[in-house]
Amino acid sequence: MHLLTLYYPEGHQNHQLPGHPERPERVEVIKRGLEEINLWDQVPRLEPLELTENNFSSIHDKEYLKILERASSLEQMLDPDTYTTRESWKLALNAAGGAAAVAEAVWDGKYQSGFALTRPPGHHACPSRGMGFCLLNNVAIAAEYLLQEKAASRITILDLDLHHGNGTQDIFWSRKDVSYVSIHQAPFYPGTGSLSEVGGGDGEGFTLNLPVPSRTGDLGYITLIEEIIFPFLVRKKPEILLVSYGFDTHWRDPLGSLQLSAAAIRQVFDKLRSWVEGNCNGRLAVFLEGGYDLEAGRVCGQAVGSSLMDQPWQDPLGPAPSAEGDAWRHTLADAKSIWEM
Ligand SMILES: [Zn+2]
Repeated sequence: MHLLTLYYPEGHQNHQLPGHPERPERVEVIKRGLEEINLWDQVPRLEPLELTENNFSSIHDKEYLKILERASSLEQMLDPDTYTTRESWKLALNAAGGAAAVAEAVWDGKYQSGFALTRPPGHHACPSRGMGFCLLNNVAIAAEYLLQEKAASRITILDLDLHHGNGTQDIFWSRKDVSYVSIHQAPFYPGTGSLSEVGGGDGEGFTLNLPVPSRTGDLGYITLIEEIIFPFLVRKKPEILLVSYGFDTHWRDPLGSLQLSAAAIRQVFDKLRSWVEGNCNGRLAVFLEGGYDLEAGRVCGQAVGSSLMDQPWQDPLGPAPSAEGDAWRHTLADAKSIWEM
């Protein structure tokens, strides 16, 4: 079995708006970073799957898919942040199909792990609307594909983007076949993801949110993952772990201020890898979400890729220049009490 497969969104440069932070260079710098550590050429890349209408049916409303296709044909904005171009509809379908291809290859055991450079990104895309630079919810579509086509029954989506993945949370809110976990900066866009949001109906207890303050830094982030997220994963017993990853948690990011180092991100992925090896047949698939500093993108892409390839790597950017805060300890204490950990 190969260690890693990649998905690269061919033609994604045609989804862009001059001056907008969600720009093609975000993916191109990850590609360059992976080339620099000799990973790009040795890792096989997958073509996107052609998804059926049924694969989307419990993720996005039919009406929204029509709105998106039409908006794209007219190059309209979906909201003040979220643009489309004439190619966006096709590229969004490709990104969703690429996400599903990576999830399938990892599920089938052809690869230990996968890294889908999905663009346009997905985790803010809700059942009936796109928002926050996101058109189709790639990770949710990948999860649904495994449930429908591979008879998966327990999937966990772990969202490590700076922002709360409100779209993914909404989609799976009242379901227990897909649990959703997010650690994100708060208060911050999009305003959701409080500790008290734990899912509803059949899905109550299947959503875990860890809102953390600015300047949380490496120690707080890793402590919360070890003390809250891993025990939650143990309870949920997923058959595969799908990770929404954004490099906007890095200290260089112009939008966020969580102040993580790329070395800490590497550590997090090393821990996830060893957890999945012991608990879900080693199945780990990663999907790109946000991240807006290009140097951070290049280096964080290396942190993720080198971890998944189990090869040594040094963080050239080093730790955040300013001191970490400790207000995250409140999140830790509150989460322990709510989740009885
Ligand atoms: Zn983000």
